[in-house]
Amino acid sequence: MLPYETLEESKNVLGRDLTLGETLWFNYSVKKSEFVLHGHNTLFLCIFYSIATIPFILIELSGHKKLNKYKIQPSVTRSFWEMFKCYKNVMWTFIVTVGPLQIISYPTIKWIGIRTGLPLPSGWEMFWQLLVYFVIEDYTNYWLHRLLHCKWAFENIHRVHHEYKTPLGLSAPYAHWAEILILGFPAFLGPALVPGHILTYWLWFILRQLEAIETHSGYDFPWNPTKYIPFYGGSAYHDYHHYVGGRSQGNFASVFTYCDYIYGTDKGYRYKKRMYEKISPTNTFNVQNYKVD
Ligand SMILES: [Zn+2]
Ligand SMILES: [Zn+2]
Repeated sequence: MLPYETLEESKNVLGRDLTLGETLWFNYSVKKSEFVLHGHNTLFLCIFYSIATIPFILIELSGHKKLNKYKIQPSVTRSFWEMFKCYKNVMWTFIVTVGPLQIISYPTIKWIGIRTGLPLPSGWEMFWQLLVYFVIEDYTNYWLHRLLHCKWAFENIHRVHHEYKTPLGLSAPYAHWAEILILGFPAFLGPALVPGHILTYWLWFILRQLEAIETHSGYDFPWNPTKYIPFYGGSAYHDYHHYVGGRSQGNFASVFTYCDYIYGTDKGYRYKKRMYEKISPTNTFNVQNYKVD
């Protein structure tokens, strides 16, 4: 809830007219409690998961030849019902795990000082905070994910996420509830260390989810704008991790490639990709058809 009740009052506090964005934010948030605004995260998670996966579902169901050549594991196809089963499981996990986590974490969010009022953050402030969140999440996720590949943790927790040797957009958050909690920690760490506005906080979780969906999509399109992000891992990178499965001792990072490079856990992948590109320079890296060991 904003500390001012009217637009006039907020203008006086800020000492200037409100921008269009600030007026919209005022009208939206003035009567909502901070708890409700915080709870939007679970709602966004469900909405963006349901919407952002649609294009990949349609591509998969269409079996379009032109798009099929960008498929990383082209021999595996999914039926509508297989995909729906995955969707149902994930939505259930969101409701029984992420929802309660949002409620329990509310006092922490209040304590770390995520602000909800005016003024709104500038574009620059949002950009650098999001960048910091991505770097912190990537680094912490790398080590936790690597730990999840220890024998006990893999068999009891991480095995669920690896049921998909051929990942699909819908399977990005498909995991054991304990993994959702464990890997939720790196996602919260950035905002906890560098707290910002709740809009940045929302945007962070939305972008991280979109990134995970794209990374698990099973398609590596050459026109993807993420190709221009330095050190970005992308779908072929993570697909390889799923393809190798439980034995995998590489490509652990969630977003970027530099952790695997620094700690030497991408050697096998880089070697295979290099060899594949020599043989087939114009095609998408196809982990299944690649025979050199
Ligand atoms: Zn893994
Ligand atoms: Zn994965």
